[in-house]
Amino acid sequence: MALADEARRVAAEFDFTPDEVRNSVKEFIRQMDEGLQKDGTELSQIPTYVTAVPNGTEKGLYMAVDLGGTNFRVCSIQLHGNSTFSLTQSKVAIPRELMVAKTSKELFSFLAKQIEAFLKEHHSNHYHGHIRRRRTTSLEGGFKDEEIFSLGFTFSFPVRQIGINKGILMRWTKGFDIADAVGQDVCALLQNEIDALHLPVRVAALVNDTVGTLMARSYTSPGKTGTLLGAIFGTGTNGAYVEKLDKVTKLKADNEAVYDQSTGEMIVNTEWGSFDNGLKVLPNTPYDAELDKNTPNPGIQMFEKRVSGMFLGEILRRAVISLVKNPDVPLFKDENSATNDVHSTTTIDATSPLWKEWGLDTSFLSITEADASQGLRVTRQTLDRDYGISAASVEDAEAVKVIARAIGRRAARLSAVPIAAIVLATGKLNNSSASTTSDHPATAGSVPRGSGPSDAGKDDVSEDDVIDIGVDGSLVEFYPGFEEYIREALREVPEIGAAGEKRIRIGIAKDGSGVGAALIALVAGKVAADAEE
Ligand code: ADP
Ligand code: MG
Repeated sequence: MALADEARRVAAEFDFTPDEVRNSVKEFIRQMDEGLQKDGTELSQIPTYVTAVPNGTEKGLYMAVDLGGTNFRVCSIQLHGNSTFSLTQSKVAIPRELMVAKTSKELFSFLAKQIEAFLKEHHSNHYHGHIRRRRTTSLEGGFKDEEIFSLGFTFSFPVRQIGINKGILMRWTKGFDIADAVGQDVCALLQNEIDALHLPVRVAALVNDTVGTLMARSYTSPGKTGTLLGAIFGTGTNGAYVEKLDKVTKLKADNEAVYDQSTGEMIVNTEWGSFDNGLKVLPNTPYDAELDKNTPNPGIQMFEKRVSGMFLGEILRRAVISLVKNPDVPLFKDENSATNDVHSTTTIDATSPLWKEWGLDTSFLSITEADASQGLRVTRQTLDRDYGISAASVEDAEAVKVIARAIGRRAARLSAVPIAAIVLATGKLNNSSASTTSDHPATAGSVPRGSGPSDAGKDDVSEDDVIDIGVDGSLVEFYPGFEEYIREALREVPEIGAAGEKRIRIGIAKDGSGVGAALIALVAGKVAADAEE
């Protein structure tokens, strides 16, 4: 069998056609509506109690922490009030064993210790000053509020939010599994461990990373246009957008819900990782199905399992191994060997992470997509150095690249579905200073843009017509051409077309979760902040 043909055959299994894009957008809009009306739907459409996006004039010093999925970040943010900020941060990888710890205390005390270390290193005056005051003051009331950092806690798992700094964990995702945390208020879990260390920190706001991204983008984005959508393509994927308050009918039914109604809007966290768990419209290859079976939450987060960084490497690994195990396909094979046993005919080392579940990191997809070297030297070096394959041929590397690209491209085309659905459902394309006609898909010859979303190429659209979208996450930031694949799919949706696609501005919300969390902590503590002025 010709290897190139086999690679193309597998790549074709990852096709996500223009028709499928269109159908999926329709279904996404239907699920959005359903989620706004009642609980227990595939799209959770969680009201966030945040009713306005910032405009860039906000000021103050705040702390933020971000429990993402892969890393824990601690930062302090000075908002300068002119759309700019300064940020100091530290970052640690979350130890695997803590993701599946016996008790939530193990995870949250680890997080509090990182906050303590950060304060000692970057805010030592503040930290020691606070400790001194605590020791010497016997006044009632303890210490004044301004000596305490307001902290925004970015927690990127599904929570049912019941107040600005209170939220109940609904379920874990992204490989986390700590049973006793489910059903608990995650802010209280963190505050308890912070208090145990006597840190001058108050958990003022609970922030989903998507909401943080939306807020941060809105604070920093060029021009006065507010941002419509904040989206994450990192370990997981999710998005939050600005919805009309009257459409959030399930909130009106809730008599206890307290929120500011003056803006007529509320940010809604879609939890789109769970879009179409029933697989009505999502593609489903054998590799997707097997991967899902081997997760702690089969049948759940089905959209995320086809789109995000945690999963793409594993999909590729399964596809590659399926070819390696086929004795007729000359992928990573030693031609001089006569046996039929995979492990003795293959050139993949027995200790290679490729043999293990989750052994292939999604960053490999970016490496091979970016590889323009002679004979795919970079890809082959990576296979050698990181994956125990010392004798990969050019054909081997080409085959892997073709399949990897198909998986990355499918992920990006799927990512266009919620973006298109939200742009259409919110009617943003109808508000235009000039009348626009929606074109049919432009097929070829799109303008090449640099890698990574960069606000580029939108000069011909008037500021009033821009639909601003903030994105964050290593996948969208580092996978070459991810945005262009998204745009290609957006143009295939007739109601958007080339004209609509041009109006959509996608920009990285750099340090989004930190700045966004600070902005929400600011909103939460507005009274105290005003008093300091
Ligand atoms: P988090 O989701 O914890 O906030 P990130 O946004 O950095 O963190 O996303 C981490 C995920 O991105 C991991 O699944 C990792 O495999 C993937 N990733 C890291 N680097 C790259 C890259 N260069 N290209 C594509 N994916 C990457
Ligand atoms: Mg993140």
